[in-house]
Amino acid sequence: MTLKEPAAEISANLEYPACPLCGNDRRNFPFRLHEPYRVARCLECGFHFLYPRLMESAMQEVYRESSYYEGGACGYADTSYTAQEFALRATFKLLLHNLAERGLTIFRPLRIDLSRWMLN
Ligand SMILES: [Zn+2]
Repeated sequence: MTLKEPAAEISANLEYPACPLCGNDRRNFPFRLHEPYRVARCLECGFHFLYPRLMESAMQEVYRESSYYEGGACGYADTSYTAQEFALRATFKLLLHNLAERGLTIFRPLRIDLSRWMLN
């Protein structure tokens, strides 16, 4: 799969998963993204997930393309991963910290100074 492929080829690489958290197959769609993607909400457990999604093999192929990280047709199209790396790492550390504070992960991030990441 390349990054600039026709819609029909993208459709062939999509899968329509059940809820990845509980396996339930009943959902609604509270958010639409650009076609064909939507955010599904599981009617059993309330988990939100991308629907449909690229099959894992197709995702891995996209991630192997260097243009994904450096201004390609998708991925970091407006800039580059390198240009956003500092902000992406800070956002991810804060997310991990928040998950750990709620006991939702066994991962314990290093102590970070949150005031450094707050907007004034
Ligand atoms: Zn569920």
